[in-house]
Amino acid sequence: MPDVRNCRRCGKIFNYIGGNPICPSCRELNEQTFKKVKEYLYNNPGATLSEVSTVLEVSVEKIKGYLKEGRLEIIGSDSNLVLECESCGKAIRTGRFCDDCSRDLTRDLKSTASEISETLSKKDSAKSQFGMRYLNKDILK
Ligand SMILES: [Zn+2]
Ligand SMILES: [Zn+2]
Repeated sequence: MPDVRNCRRCGKIFNYIGGNPICPSCRELNEQTFKKVKEYLYNNPGATLSEVSTVLEVSVEKIKGYLKEGRLEIIGSDSNLVLECESCGKAIRTGRFCDDCSRDLTRDLKSTASEISETLSKKDSAKSQFGMRYLNKDILK
């Protein structure tokens, strides 16, 4: 039995082969749109997002989607920086994170564990210091 699904875009039934639940014709359309955007940016380096959207009649969201997928990269002046790093909010040209954050991401995962144990041991030592003082007072009484 083939995996038959409804296309998420046009609702047409198609044989699902994996990935986005989009039928072959919509997929093709999507590729064509992407190529159009890519070509336009190739011929008009530094074009703004709204310019591409208006000229090609492609929604801004769609273009942003391509950028987030890392299929498009913004080149040119700072005014074209339309994406924000999901971690620090810095303007980025492609992908989801800025260079610094994507580099830090793996490091952060590792250091968080050591930070937690560090905090815990600090708490422990604070407690034991208090305990010592209390004990000393007791002795002085
Ligand atoms: Zn479709
Ligand atoms: Zn960042």
